Amino acid sequence: MKNVILIAPPAAGKGTQAEILVNDFGYEHISMGDLLREVMASGSALGQEIKTLIDAGKLVDDELTFPLIKNKLQTIQGKPFISDGFPRTLNQAQHFETILKELNITDYVVILLNLSEEAALKRISGRLICSCGKSYNIYNDNLKPKQEGICDKCGQALVKRDDDNLTSFQQRYEIFQTNIEPILDFYRQRNKLQIVDVDRSVAEIAGSIKEIITHD
Ligand code: AMP
Repeated sequence: MKNVILIAPPAAGKGTQAEILVNDFGYEHISMGDLLREVMASGSALGQEIKTLIDAGKLVDDELTFPLIKNKLQTIQGKPFISDGFPRTLNQAQHFETILKELNITDYVVILLNLSEEAALKRISGRLICSCGKSYNIYNDNLKPKQEGICDKCGQALVKRDDDNLTSFQQRYEIFQTNIEPILDFYRQRNKLQIVDVDRSVAEIAGSIKEIITHD
């Protein structure tokens, strides 16, 4: 099974697809957003700094994300992984390549979840999350909670992410647009890039991703 690097605009469903791959194939899920939110939740001064950046839709500095990704890759000890949200810049892609080489990992595929800005904005406005990590969307029948406002998995109340507002979305989308082409070129040159259209149902998208990761 190939390691997977998921790249996508905000709210394209990286987390949802990663969860399916974890459940169906036993992948280790490496979510940079979750790793950063863990530091944020610690309430430390660093956590507060991170919260300010995340809420504004800005990228957190490489000095922080680089050790987080490296530590996480070391902890999973060679198990197949999905990286969700890293890399987000060419510099991060180059650094990731270096770490993967150090760890002797060469078998991976990069999947771009392709979505228009308009569709991404609609998804952002319908997204609700639970503190257990599960994510929902009230505008998608497959992603709605069974009971309004309540997590199917653990029963806690669902909330909006603090960064799911229009200003933060626009900032995040702009950062995505600015950085995406050089990242795609980087992986195209290495023959690693696959593009999946995500303006479809969750199951259809998962089907396309499964074909890619099981293909030799
Ligand atoms: P996500 O959960 O993937 O939507 O990420 C939430 C936020 O965490 C992003 O908007 C950034 O502020 C921050 N973040 C996530 N991944 C990265 C990364 N690779 N580099 C810098 N900041 C990141």
